[in-house]
Amino acid sequence: MNIKVSEIPEEGLSIEGVEDFPQPFQDPAWILEDLSLLVEKDGNDVLVRGRMRARVPQTCGRCLEPFPFDVVARVDTRFCPRPARREEVELTPDDLEADFYAADLLDVDRLLQTETELGLPMKPLCGKDCRGLCPVCGGNRNVTPCTCAARPPDPRLAVLKDLAERLSTRASPRGGPAEGQDRRPSARTSSR
Ligand SMILES: [Zn+2]
Ligand SMILES: [Zn+2]
Repeated sequence: MNIKVSEIPEEGLSIEGVEDFPQPFQDPAWILEDLSLLVEKDGNDVLVRGRMRARVPQTCGRCLEPFPFDVVARVDTRFCPRPARREEVELTPDDLEADFYAADLLDVDRLLQTETELGLPMKPLCGKDCRGLCPVCGGNRNVTPCTCAARPPDPRLAVLKDLAERLSTRASPRGGPAEGQDRRPSARTSSR
């Protein structure tokens, strides 16, 4: 939906509900669930404030199952008239919460798209306690508690374990002072 900036009334334009936005997102699987915005003019700028909620399909990073994620975003964005020259566009919006409108049209769909993208998790998890996939059998441990106890033995680790065991058996006779005293007499006996 586009708003004609010149037609925004003095008292502002309020948008309640999602009726005017049947498909605001690029991905049709994303669903706008709730919207409450106040669009006001501030000189040549336009302020858009309010909140939105959207449901976006995600894939859990641990168990790889799809799950719906609800993005709840607070909207507080200032739209400035797009500068005439193109180079200035790259330089002006230092603030993340600033954007442009052009040709008297403010693109609300694009605003909703951006706000939703910003609200998506970097590492999606179906739940805080997701137990992920079993590294042994590959099963989803949230669904089927498998009996695999631990990771499969890594041959490189087995070599290190052997070495560690040999070192510890070699080291133990020289271990504590009490043990050393015990062994001295027996060494003498054997030399006789
Ligand atoms: Zn998961
Ligand atoms: Zn398993």
